Amino acid sequence: MADSRPPPSSALAHLEGSASGQTYPADRLARLDPVDGRPLLARYDLTAAARTITPRRLAARRTGGMWRWGELLPVRDPVHIVHLGEGSTPLLPAVRLGRALGLDRLLIKCEGLNPTGSFKARGMAAAVSRAAELGAGSFIAPSAGNAGGALAAYGAAAGLPVTVLMPVDAPAANREEALVCGARVVLVEGLISDCGRLSRLVAAETGAFDVSTLAEPYRVEGKKTMGLELAEDLGWKLPDVVVYPTGGGTGLVGMWKAFAELETMGLIGSARPRMVAVQAEGCAPIVRAFAAGADHAEPWEGAATRAGGIRVPSAVGDALILRALRASGGTAVAVGEAEIDAHQRLAGRLGAGYVSPESGAVLAAIADLVARGWIAPDEQVVAFDTGVGHKYPPPPDLPAPPVVPADCDDVERLVALTGGGHEP
Ligand SMILES: *Cc1c(COP(=O)(O)O)cnc(C)c1O
Repeated sequence: MADSRPPPSSALAHLEGSASGQTYPADRLARLDPVDGRPLLARYDLTAAARTITPRRLAARRTGGMWRWGELLPVRDPVHIVHLGEGSTPLLPAVRLGRALGLDRLLIKCEGLNPTGSFKARGMAAAVSRAAELGAGSFIAPSAGNAGGALAAYGAAAGLPVTVLMPVDAPAANREEALVCGARVVLVEGLISDCGRLSRLVAAETGAFDVSTLAEPYRVEGKKTMGLELAEDLGWKLPDVVVYPTGGGTGLVGMWKAFAELETMGLIGSARPRMVAVQAEGCAPIVRAFAAGADHAEPWEGAATRAGGIRVPSAVGDALILRALRASGGTAVAVGEAEIDAHQRLAGRLGAGYVSPESGAVLAAIADLVARGWIAPDEQVVAFDTGVGHKYPPPPDLPAPPVVPADCDDVERLVALTGGGHEP
C-alpha cells in the first residue's frame, strides 16, 4: 500500500449463521452455515473497533481505500492484503441528471472507478485476501462477468490460480480481462446459476476455494465498505433513499450490515435509508418475493436482461435481502429493457459518464419511484453506479457516426455533420 503505516488490525471475532444464529470460529476457511446452508456473517468486537475507528482518526487515514476500515474487515495480518486501489470512490452530486429524474438532491456513488471497472473489486479484494490468509491455494467462481474479471485480477495479485465459469454470452471484455489476468475460463451454455452448480462440482473435486456470492463470508465484508463510506462522506448521517441494482444482493446486504455496525459503535443514529432493490423485468425474483410478502425468493425461470450483473435467477442471500428491504421501509422495483437502455444513455448525455446497464436500471427505477410519489423531489437519494459501461455491448440503436475521407474539404458538409457548432 502507498501508506507506510500498517493498516489497522481486524476486530473480527467469529462467524455467525445468518438464519441459525449459531457461532463458528472465524480463523479457518468457511463457506455456508453447516446447519442450514444459509450465509455466514462475520461478527466483530465492535467495542474494540470503536476505540480506534473515530471520525478524526479515520480522516487522518488518507490512503488505503477500503482498507482504511481495517478494524471492520476480516484480514488479521496486513501482509495478506491484496490492494489494487479499491474503495474510497467518490459520491458525486448529479445536478442535471437529478433534475431530469425529478430530484433536487441526487448523488451518485461512482463504483465504476474501482479497479476492474466495477464494485466487484471490493468483494474480491476482501474474499481473496482473507482466503489467502487462511491458506486457500486456488480459487473458483461462477460469474456473469464482472466478478470473474475481478477474481482473476485479485487472484493474480495474490499469486494464486483462478478458474472462472461464465455464461457463453457474458461480455467479451470480462472474458478477456480474466484471460489476460491468467485465469482459466470455462464458458457455460447457460446462466450464472448453471455456472454456480458446475463451480461447486469442480471445487468439491479439486479443493479450489469457491467464492460465489454470499457462499463464503467475506465478499459481503468488502462490499459493506460502500455503506461505511456513505456514512463518512455524508457527515455520519445516512441519505433518505439508497437505490441498488440487485443480483446476488451482496452490496445491499453488506451496506445494511455496515449501518448496524456503525450504530453499535455510536457513529450514527438509528435512522436508516429506505433501501431499494432494482431488478430487470426479465429477471426479478426479489421483486416478486417482496410483492408477495415472502421471506424467500423462488428461482426465476428464463432469466433475460442485458444487465448481466442482475441476471441472477436465484440468490443464496434472498432472505437477507428481503429482510433489509422490509426493515428499512424500502421496496423492490423491476424495470424494462427499453428503460434500462434509455437511462444508460440519459446518464451519459447528462454528465454521469458511460455507466453500466445495471446503473441504467437504477436510474430508470428512480424515475419510476419519483413519478409514483414514492420518492419526494427534495429527498436525498444515492444511486449506485456499479460499473463502467465500456465492458458491455453498447445500448442498442446508437447512431452510426458519419465517415469522411481524410482529405475532405467540403467545409459546409463537415459543419453540418458536426452539428454546426452545437446550437443550444
Ligand atoms: C454484480 C453486479 C451487480 C449486482 O451486485 P450484487 O451485489 O451481487 O447484487 C450490479 N451491477 C454490476 C455492474 C455488477 O457487476
